[in-house]
This record gives sequence, C-alpha cells and structure tokens, in this order.
Amino acid sequence: MAESGIVFNIQRYTIHDGPGLRTELFLKGCPLHCRWCSNPEGLCRQPQVGVYRSKCIGRRACGACVQACPAGEEAFRFTVGKLAGIDRTLCTDCLACLEACPSDALKLWGQRMTVDQCMEIIRRDRGYYERSGGGVTVSGGDPLVQSDFVAALFAACRAEGIHTCCESTLCFAWPVVERLLPVTDLWISDLKMMDSARHRHYTGEGNALILRNLQTLASLGQELILRIPIIPGVNDDRANIEASAAFIRGQLGGRVRCLQLLSFMRLGTEKYKSLGMSYQMSDVRMNRRAFQRKVGLIAAYFNSQGIHCLVGTHEKD
Ligand code: SF4
Ligand code: SF4
Repeated sequence: MAESGIVFNIQRYTIHDGPGLRTELFLKGCPLHCRWCSNPEGLCRQPQVGVYRSKCIGRRACGACVQACPAGEEAFRFTVGKLAGIDRTLCTDCLACLEACPSDALKLWGQRMTVDQCMEIIRRDRGYYERSGGGVTVSGGDPLVQSDFVAALFAACRAEGIHTCCESTLCFAWPVVERLLPVTDLWISDLKMMDSARHRHYTGEGNALILRNLQTLASLGQELILRIPIIPGVNDDRANIEASAAFIRGQLGGRVRCLQLLSFMRLGTEKYKSLGMSYQMSDVRMNRRAFQRKVGLIAAYFNSQGIHCLVGTHEKD
C-alpha cells in the first residue's frame, strides 16, 4: 500500500521554516502539549471536526449534523439555535456530520494523503525552489509522530533533488530520529527551556530526550536551526537564557546555523474554541513594547556569546 499520512495544512511559498521559498506540510500528532501552542489542531493524530458557530444556519432550518451522527443529539450543544460545540466524549470523529453539513460550520482538521498526492503539489513549485534555494519542510504537530510517512515523502523529494527540512520537537527515542538522517538536509527544533521539571510542567514532558537528540544530531554533523519561543514569565529569565547559551556553545559543537527567538503571541484561540479545548495562556499579561525590547536584549546576549541569533524566523532578518 502506498505510504500515507494525515495532513492538516499545506502552505506554498512560505519563507519561515527553512531557506528560500518552501512548500510546508503540517502533519497531525505531537508528543508535547505546550501551553502556548498556536496549532491545537495539530496535537491529536487523528482527523478532527472543528465547530464554527457563526457559520451554522441553525438547528431548526437544518439539523443535518444531528440526523447524521451515530451518537445522536446528545453529542451536540446548540446555543440560541446554532451549533456551539460537540461533546468530545461521545464523538468518535467519524466525520458523518461534516459530510452532512451544508454550510462551512464544520471544518475538517486533517485528511489522509499519499506520498504521490503530496508530491503532485510539491512539484508545482520546483522552479521556485531552484531559484530561491528552497524546498520542502514538514512541521505539525510533530511530523515524527508519522515518521514512516515522512521517510517516504523525503525519499521521494530527494529522488527529485528537492531540499528537505524537518521541524520536530525531537522528543522521540533516537531510532525514530535516526531513520530520517539519510533523507533530511536540515533540522529545526526548539530549546524551550533548560530545566526539565519546568519543561514537563509547561509541555507535558521533560527535556532529557530532546537535549540528548540535539547533541547526537550535532555530533553527527547535521545542520540545525534552533528556536526558543520566548514566553513571558515562563522561560525569559536570566538563568534559563544563560543555561541555554551554555548548552548551545558547549554541547552543539558549532552545528547551529542560527538561533531564532520567537516572541510569544496569543495565536490560535479560535481554533481552540472550535475544538472544544481551553487555551491556557489567555491570562498572560504583558506590555508588548517592553516585551519586544526584552526579546531584543536576549538576542543581543546570545550574539555576544558567539551564537548567531535573530528575532523571528526569516533568516535574512
Ligand atoms: S464526527 Fe462526531 S459529532 Fe460528527 S457525526 Fe461523527 S460522532 Fe457525531
Ligand atoms: S449541519 Fe451544519 S449548518 Fe446544519 S445545524 Fe449542523 S452545523 Fe449547523
């Protein structure tokens, strides 16, 4: 059977995740649950149905979702006649409601695609990759949750001379990462925070595996882009920044092509709502100007330590 994966978004002409112009595929599933995640639709491995109440034409006028659902009306919550949510404990993600809905009130997050289907889209922009030094990036979620699919996709890219970049948490046993080495040109990963207990508190997992995998990739001469999402009150303290710099300098042996600082933004809140999930960073208070100044100072510190660091994801910044 042709290798296939569950993809929840494909962006063409992106310039943020790797060099040049790229086609980026976002894959479902992630081993972490970072509290600030802006892609909650990427967390669960399976396709999911999201609810957009403003687009519902009303239960009286329609009600097709309730009719189609094997769990019946218990699975749905309507407010003022419009669909407001799905009871996720009853929903089996069978997608029957989505097929029945005549409006865009129900959105599918994730669909199964074969390597050939993805390659058909990827090939359309081959000329742009060649002119800009770009290629293909897989992200998510975390693409290594679907590592068989990524290995097959990247092998197909390589066979056609297309540059490959994998953006992963690296929170996997080493063999999962290792099997991608022959087909991956560039890795992008986060160094969210150095204290493992704090890392577990905010992401659901400790960081020992991630740090070890980063060290191993560096020792094998793999090319890395590192990122730190700077989250106020979580990892922007001096001790964490100094420990991060010491780790990069001491353990990653000059293999970090650049360190990118991503300033915290409240993103994805509508998607959380559509999936019936709660967004856990809504009470973060900050003065945006002062915060941006602080992020700039952190970047200056890393550069003073001999680590090429920029604010944002565009390498030409
Ligand atoms: S996806 Fe969930 S809510 Fe929709 S029909 Fe299937 S079980 Fe019911
Ligand atoms: S099928 Fe769609 S439009 Fe009709 S009631 Fe359900 S969500 Fe609303």
